[in-house]
Amino acid sequence: MRLICPVCGKPLEKINKEAICENNHHFDYAKSGYLNLLVSNKKVHGDDAAMVKARSLFLNSGAYGFLRDRIAQLAAGSEVLCDLGCGEGYYTSAFDAPEKYGFDLSKDALKHAAKHDRNTHYTIASIFRLPLPEACADVCVTCFAPLAKEEILRVLKPGGRFIFVTPGPKHLFEMKEVLYEHPYENEVSEPDTGMTLIQREQIEQKFTCKQEELEALFAMTPYAWRTSKEDQARLKEKEQLEITAQFIIHVYRKDTQ
Ligand SMILES: [Zn+2]
Repeated sequence: MRLICPVCGKPLEKINKEAICENNHHFDYAKSGYLNLLVSNKKVHGDDAAMVKARSLFLNSGAYGFLRDRIAQLAAGSEVLCDLGCGEGYYTSAFDAPEKYGFDLSKDALKHAAKHDRNTHYTIASIFRLPLPEACADVCVTCFAPLAKEEILRVLKPGGRFIFVTPGPKHLFEMKEVLYEHPYENEVSEPDTGMTLIQREQIEQKFTCKQEELEALFAMTPYAWRTSKEDQARLKEKEQLEITAQFIIHVYRKDTQ
């Protein structure tokens, strides 16, 4: 295990139900198996239990399975893999690497993740302050989470790769057609990662979403916060909907200096 103490930066060792550094800072493992390395007293803004439930329900329908398969394929051959903003571990659990770390701020999400996947070190920590030493990871992954550029550059080994997934222009377009009078395509911009782009691909698949999954999918989108009750009602009238899932997968390489 490569995790470091968030207080002093020394390596942590797992002893029974705790992670301890040489300066005797202690951190507890939860019953479900994740580790809490958050030291700030500030209220944490992670996804709550209802959101985690909605997302698990939707993801378990398999609608995004093709994305999961593709990024697992792209990450193949890595020894140490870090998933930044791993949520309930839907993608993390699919990566085939001997040493995996998943970071998120949501206790509810990591509880779910740790229960279902014993092969990953799930850790509560900010992706903008990763409890990892420099140059330890072969691959970093960020799937629908903010880009933590400086931390990714710090923890990747020279020559290591970063896989970044963002929504494509037409992602969930049919749902927006139901919700809005004038639906717009997602804006796509080239992110500045400070690394060399070595591959970029757009993948898409249509899926049929039943009413229950449709509500769950809506809840996990940013539209859930900015859609009126009247507009939402139109979505509730749909028994099912054929929807496009479209993703852009960027693969970057950290150059050797
Ligand atoms: Zn310490």
